[in-house]
Order: sequence, then structure tokens, then C-alpha cells
Amino acid sequence: MTASFTYNANPGRVVFGSGTIERVGPELERLGVRRAMVLSTPAQQSDAAALASRLGDGAAGVFAGATMHTPVEVTEAALAALEGSGADGLVALGGGSTTGLGKALAIRTGLPHLAIPTTYAGSEMTPILGETENGEKRTRSDPRILPNTVIYDVDLTLGLPAGMSATSGLNAIAHAVEALYARDRNPIVSLMAVEAVAKLAAALPAIVANPADHDARDDALYGAWLCGTCLGSVGMALHHKLCHTLGGSFDLPHAETHGVMLPHALAFNAAASPEAIGRLAPVLGADSASALQQLARRIGAPTSLAALGMPESGIDRAADLAMANPYWNPRPLDRDSIRALLARAWAGEPVAA
Ligand code: NAD
Repeated sequence: MTASFTYNANPGRVVFGSGTIERVGPELERLGVRRAMVLSTPAQQSDAAALASRLGDGAAGVFAGATMHTPVEVTEAALAALEGSGADGLVALGGGSTTGLGKALAIRTGLPHLAIPTTYAGSEMTPILGETENGEKRTRSDPRILPNTVIYDVDLTLGLPAGMSATSGLNAIAHAVEALYARDRNPIVSLMAVEAVAKLAAALPAIVANPADHDARDDALYGAWLCGTCLGSVGMALHHKLCHTLGGSFDLPHAETHGVMLPHALAFNAAASPEAIGRLAPVLGADSASALQQLARRIGAPTSLAALGMPESGIDRAADLAMANPYWNPRPLDRDSIRALLARAWAGEPVAA
């Protein structure tokens, strides 16, 4: 029996493959863009410059100041660079930080936005933007935030270091896992979520063994696209709330925090989410939460908040924050259980319900 559901598709265009960087020019043309500003982080400035020179007259310049958490000061500096540059479009080349800057500029200027993701974070498939100002992070969702076109070029991910591939891949898996028990889950998004977890869980160990494994990179990027689609389509729950709280309050690294927390959040929700556990079982086994923790260990990702630099004294504060304005969650939250979950995650202990 198929239960009733609502399915809301986001209207983005996706070009996926190897060597698809060649398609940037024609895809910009398709968007009506004559001269695009290329965005990147400082670390990927030379890749952005190479893309700009490939575009020739189609590039209006490079702004290589993107950074984590989309600070408003950086967005303002980029707006100043846009002014007078003649740019009538944006190309964001990089991970979630660069995509975030592209989104922040697109929503302010209305310019068309083409994203070229080089990590597995998935931001390019969502209409969500988190920005920071005066140390506070504010998140909003608006259909105009969704990039117009996304070009996935597997070749650009071959240089993503093994450690970042592992944590970024676990970050992606977290979107798919939470989509399976989302309040507004639906059969289409659940199909994508299961396929995504299967592809990434198989590909990540192969990538860590050989970061240049092209087939595994294909599967991981395809899985990451699906995970991003899940994140952009249905609501997230306890796991994402905990990661946002920990990231914001203790300045913990984004992808690594997801990798540590996901097995604990899934174990907490398992009994209240039989449908999700049933869908994950063929892919991860009957105890999918423990399987995810083993996967993290196997691919060398951190498995404790202590290893990420969180002080033990922060556990109580994190529990209080997680209980304040909680997201919807399949299992009701109580402070003692959340504190116990955080204590296990801090120490890197095995998962428990
Ligand atoms: P990131 O974009 O900060 O990248 C980390 C570093 O890796 C950067 O220096 C980057 O230049 C470099 N890098 C990226 N790709 C590379 C590659 N292929 N080879 C070598 N170096 C590479 O990290 P991220 O994890 O992709 O993104 C995290 C940010 O994205 C966070 O701010 C998070 O909040 C945001 N995010 C937002 C959404 C959303 O829907 N709004 C979703 C996921 C993540």
C-alpha cells in the first residue's frame, strides 16, 4: 500500500559526467549570461582563474574570498567586486562554502547562478542559505536561492583529499538518512535516499584506498547529488539540529561533526522509524547505526566530538541548546537522553538507543 504524500520537486537543471567543465560556456549561454563572475575559496583560486581563462570574454573576473558559514562581510565584499565588473551571472566553483556565497549573491542581485560542486556537501541542490553576521547564524529558505544550473564534473573531485572525501561523504549520507524518517518523507525522495546511501557507502572506502579511483568517484558524486536533493526536498530532524548546534556553539568543523553524530542520531531514532530502518537494512545491514560508525572508522573519519576539539564541559550546554526550539523528530526528545547521546558521541563510544 502506498500512503498519501506530497512531493515537491525543485526546478534545477543538472549536468553530470566527466569533463563536463567544458559545458560551462554553453550552459551560461543557455541562462542568458554573457559575462560571469567566478567565485571560489582562496584555496581554489587557481582553479577559478583557470575556469575564467577558459571562459575568456565570458568571464567578468574572479572573486576568491568564499569562506565557511557565509559571513555577510564577505558577501558585501563580493557585491563590491561585482559592481562595475559587468557581470550578469555567477559561477560558484567549490564546496558548500563557495555555493553559499553564490546563493547569497544570487538572492541579493537576482543574477543567474551556475554551481560547480567539488565536494559532497550537497548545498547546490537546496533552496537553503545559512549566513553569519555578528557571530550569529541565520538560515532561510527561498526558491530563488536554488542555483539555476548545476554542473557535476567528476574530474574536479579526483583531487579532493581522502580525509575530506570521507567526511564530506558522511555529511552527504546524513542528508539521505534523515530524509528516510522525515515528517514529510515521500516514496520518491526515499528511493533517492536509499540509492544515495548505497552508492556512497560502497564508494567511500574505495576512494580512501585510492583517491583517483574514477568509478568510485563517479558513484560518490552521483550519490552526493541524490543526498543534496533529499536535503533540498524534505525536512531534517535531530541529527541536523545537533550538528548546527555543535557547529555554531563550539566552532566544530561541519563535515566531521556530521560524521561523528549521524550513527548516534540514527540509533536514537531507530525504534521510532521502522520504515527507515527497513529501507536501510538491505544496504547497511540490520543495525545500520553501528554500520555507519564502522564505516566512519574504516575510512578514517573522526568518531568522537573530543577529537574535534569540543570540551567535555560543553556537553550540558549542547544538550540545553538542542532542547531549545528543537526540530520535529520521529522520537520525542528528553534532555536526559539527549545528554547521554552527546556524552557517548563526545567520548566516541558505541551507539545506543
Ligand atoms: P568547504 O566548501 O568549506 O570546503 C572546504 C575546503 O576544501 C575549502 O578550502 C575548499 O576550497 C576546499 N575544496 C573543496 N573542494 C575541493 C577539491 N575538490 N579539492 C581540493 N580542495 C577542495 O566545505 P564543504 O563541506 O563542502 O561545505 C561546508 C559549508 O557548506 C558549511 O558552511 C555548510 O553550512 C554549508 N552547507 C550548506 C548547505 C545548504 O543546503 N545550505 C548544505 C551543505 C553544506
